[in-house]
Amino acid sequence: MFRMSTPAPRRSLKRFLAFVRPYRGLLAGAIAFGVVRYLVPLALPWSVKIVVDDLLPRSGARAHASLHLLMGGLCALYGVYAVASYWRSYLSGRAGHRVIFDLRQALYRHVQRMSLSFFDRQKIGAVVSRMTTDIASAQNFVGAAFVATAMDLALLAVIVVLLCAMNVTLALVSLSVLPFYAAISYHLQKGIRAKSRTIHHQLQEISGELHEQFAGIATIQAFTQEASEARQFRAQSEAYFDTVMGSVRLQSIALGSTGFLTALGPILVLWFGVTEVWSGRLTVGTLMAFYGYLGMLYQPIQRLTELNLILANSLAAMDRIFEVFDTVPEVRERPGAIALGRARGALRFEDVTFQYTGREPVLERVNLTIPAGTTAALVGPSGAGKSTLVRLLPRYYDVTGGRITLDGVDIRDLTLASLRDQVALVSQEPILFSGTIEENLRYGKPDASDAELRAAARAAFAEPFIEQLPQGYQTEIGERGVRLSGGQKQRLAIARAFLKDAPILLLDEPTSALDAESEDLVKEALNRLLEGRTALIIAHRLSTIEHADIVIVLDGGQIVEQGRHEELLKERGGLYRRYAEHQLASLLTDT
Ligand code: ATP
Repeated sequence: MFRMSTPAPRRSLKRFLAFVRPYRGLLAGAIAFGVVRYLVPLALPWSVKIVVDDLLPRSGARAHASLHLLMGGLCALYGVYAVASYWRSYLSGRAGHRVIFDLRQALYRHVQRMSLSFFDRQKIGAVVSRMTTDIASAQNFVGAAFVATAMDLALLAVIVVLLCAMNVTLALVSLSVLPFYAAISYHLQKGIRAKSRTIHHQLQEISGELHEQFAGIATIQAFTQEASEARQFRAQSEAYFDTVMGSVRLQSIALGSTGFLTALGPILVLWFGVTEVWSGRLTVGTLMAFYGYLGMLYQPIQRLTELNLILANSLAAMDRIFEVFDTVPEVRERPGAIALGRARGALRFEDVTFQYTGREPVLERVNLTIPAGTTAALVGPSGAGKSTLVRLLPRYYDVTGGRITLDGVDIRDLTLASLRDQVALVSQEPILFSGTIEENLRYGKPDASDAELRAAARAAFAEPFIEQLPQGYQTEIGERGVRLSGGQKQRLAIARAFLKDAPILLLDEPTSALDAESEDLVKEALNRLLEGRTALIIAHRLSTIEHADIVIVLDGGQIVEQGRHEELLKERGGLYRRYAEHQLASLLTDT
């Protein structure tokens, strides 16, 4: 979970309101139209009273005229009602969705800037859920809190005044139920609120878990762990089901008890009202109007108690959203950071130490010089820290001791954008996004011309296969599109790096065998890409290692040997020699 302590709800609310502020004009409009919309129906019971008490007993021409006037007026009033309804709903919807739009953009920008260490700690599903479900639930706040509450309170006040104006005793009788209604609602809502928090939390866990499981489905199948994973999923789902049912039970109790109290008011009014009519203190028309208003009284009260729940959910969602905002990226730009032009590419690691948060050091006192334009091959056993070392260069993580310099400048003194502009990355499993081939290539240089795009594809030996695809550069790849082979993906990633034309290349060589032809093409493309650049390669192939200007042997987070391939081979008893003999034996015979 997020490491932040939960901020006080009121603080989250204040911060949320800052997002609402730009749209206060829209909200004020929505409230104004809302008040009109809610007050218009109040004319109906009063008209019933006039009709029953004044018009029905008389039936002359004047009564006819009054009736037509009254009904015509009511029709006109409901015309206003229709227009006000439209504007209320439109303006409040627009304000709510605008707020959410801004909030989601801000959150997205924030999460995108987070260091990789944030994503190490978070389940991606939980982050996604904050950006979708939580934000949507915070949105309810705008409509519910601002627009509905203002209208409901106005409506309640007017109805209570009308009831008292008609008959104070009867008004008191009908309102006597309200304190019970409010007390029961309050207690039940409190229970429901607690449950809804647990429900949300459990759902987030489930979604994170599912995300992880389906992303790793191949491993689950390979280890035939389906049954055990399914059992775990079932246990999680059962716990979730139990909490949901607890909440359903409370909601059902709420429905039953408030339903009973809602009916009790009108019964009391009829009961007491008829005796008042019999004794001549109340007219029949007033009793009917009373009855009509009473029906209207319970609606806003019910909405106000539901509001309690909506607000509780929204506030909890706001807390979760602002928790993310409060997590600061660990890798940050220093004030006054330098924007570097094109670097020459001279790299130095000076006494570099690194540990992942809460872990043992992974790299210890690493000293390394890679002159501009040279190729360094990193070799070493699994877990030696090769990938970690490479990740420090674009500052995915910051060193915990020592420093890394680029052309003599500490990379932490450079702006993040200008540092990352110097680096092109080709990973073992190239990451391609859903979209067309062209879109994927343009990732390297968004404003590249078509000619540049083609030149890069050609240099990476990718053009021939792209042209054979049904829509050439416009072919969709990824989840919804064409599936590419490992070698083809590699060549696209290399083309992307060509297009980026960065002075430094970070490369994690694929370990899995590509078919022979693909392998040759990838090798050839890489050799071209390496020309004139500084390269740091996590090398798995002997041919790469042989051609490297310097081979760095990493073991247990330390550089144990470095030099050219031939020199290292001569080191009797050296790790590299043993490594080459054992690890590369098969490759040596292949090549
Ligand atoms: P391989 O060749 O198997 O990829 P490597 O030499 O690249 O290994 P690294 O991936 O750098 O090794 O890992 C070095 C150590 O750091 C390992 O012990 C690993 O468990 C740990 N490690 C790697 N990534 C993380 C992470 N994100 N959070 C915590 N520990 C990590």
